[in-house]
Amino acid sequence: MIERISENIKRIQGTIGEACVRSNRSTDDVLLVAVTKSVEVDAIQALLKLGQLDVAESRVQELSDKYEAIEATLDRRIAPPSLTPRPKPPAPNWHMIGHLQRNKVKPILPYVHMIHSMDSLRLAEEINTTAARLGLDHKVKILLQVNAGQEKQKYGLAVGAMIPLAEQVATLPNLEIVGLMTMAPLTEDQKKIRFCFERCRELFEEMQGERVAGPAFKHLSMGMSQDYEIAVECGATMLRIGTALFA
Ligand SMILES: *Cc1c(COP(=O)(O)O)cnc(C)c1O
Repeated sequence: MIERISENIKRIQGTIGEACVRSNRSTDDVLLVAVTKSVEVDAIQALLKLGQLDVAESRVQELSDKYEAIEATLDRRIAPPSLTPRPKPPAPNWHMIGHLQRNKVKPILPYVHMIHSMDSLRLAEEINTTAARLGLDHKVKILLQVNAGQEKQKYGLAVGAMIPLAEQVATLPNLEIVGLMTMAPLTEDQKKIRFCFERCRELFEEMQGERVAGPAFKHLSMGMSQDYEIAVECGATMLRIGTALFA
């Protein structure tokens, strides 16, 4: 399995590299986030061995279960206390990319690296108060989810609602807006996909220009297995890829 995943990563990185050349970008500015929702813990371990540390889940329960399973394997690999302690192997950065209900915020906050799917002020407020209650020593990094496609989608807010939302979220002390996330409509029509990504990038640049959010506002999470090349050409800094990694 690890060989196949390794080859898929190389192939995907190659495709990202070509898209970067075409759009005059550096590959250092494009992070591959492995979406592990369809695979078991052994596949996540394979990713970690290959140095792919950014992993994402779309449901709280699965994220929690896999987080705990991986933590257990990391602990087991530590040498017993009588021997010279070896450094702990690198732990993954866990990204939450699916719709997040307010009553499910608490279990993931202590360890989640970034929440890509912030889609309402009420959710932001819940994260803010829960973070305070848990006494977190860091701000929770969030991306605002934009519904930039032309088609109706369940989650994400309209482009026009983003700046007012960001202004309100920016007043909450325990979270930090680090960028925007979007999903292209499910379509074969590349023009529609590109339109969606371009629109999101324009909004992103507008928000950077108006300093709605601070200097940490630098991530644009867009592109999945079917459309990540287009996303790179349109300025994505984080690609969320599942199927193409494990096929
Ligand atoms: C599943 C999922 C992905 C990855 O999709 P693939 O087509 O498997 O690459 C990306 N983003 C979100 C929000 C997802 O739910």
